[in-house]
Amino acid sequence: MEVTEVKKMVCDAGKRLLSSGLVEGTWGNISARVDENTMVITPSGKNYADQTPDDMVVVNLADLTYEGELKPSTERGLHAEIYKERKNVNSVIHTHSLHGCTVAAARKEIPPILDDMVQIVGPSIRVADYAISGTKKLTKNVIKALKGRNGALLANHGTICVGRSIDEAFVTCQVLEKACRIFIDVQNIGGAAQINKVEAIAMHQYYLKKYSKRQSI
Ligand code: 13P
Ligand code: ZN
Repeated sequence: MEVTEVKKMVCDAGKRLLSSGLVEGTWGNISARVDENTMVITPSGKNYADQTPDDMVVVNLADLTYEGELKPSTERGLHAEIYKERKNVNSVIHTHSLHGCTVAAARKEIPPILDDMVQIVGPSIRVADYAISGTKKLTKNVIKALKGRNGALLANHGTICVGRSIDEAFVTCQVLEKACRIFIDVQNIGGAAQINKVEAIAMHQYYLKKYSKRQSI
């Protein structure tokens, strides 16, 4: 895909993220892979509402050097490391969504409690150990929490989801947010019953290898 096309996709996703309520103002960040060596990522500290495709920053995955005047997201190291580690990931979205942040503040792992969560996000939603945003330590903790999963929480900070396309990463953010909300609400009626762990792993694999192939991802 051409860089200009990827820049437009990332910019559009930022506006969708804002209107869907998963982020406020300038918070969170979005990227998409261009090729083996390059990603496009949202600029740091710029409101999604005002962003244009030209504001999106092209970053080299190996050394994090970038093109243009605008600074790429402070989480560029985290996004780049995910692309290097997970070859089939083509988009990464980091949000500060309300229910995701609530569970992240409680530092509670979400067990397999919903069919769509298990299929799309993975057999559980782990919480990456706390580290200051933008640091190598946070990157290390998040990579660990994402193992075998397409989404995770960042302790006392937010959420992160990955996908084979920007649309898949976006839906994963929405499903993760819904799972967090239900995980909180279900405490009012005695807590959730869990799906069997082995079946949960199989369901995630089924989604990745079979179900999602029926749609364009
Ligand atoms: P940026 O504006 O630099 O992308 O930072 C936002 C954020 O959410 C940091 O974790
Ligand atoms: Zn953040």
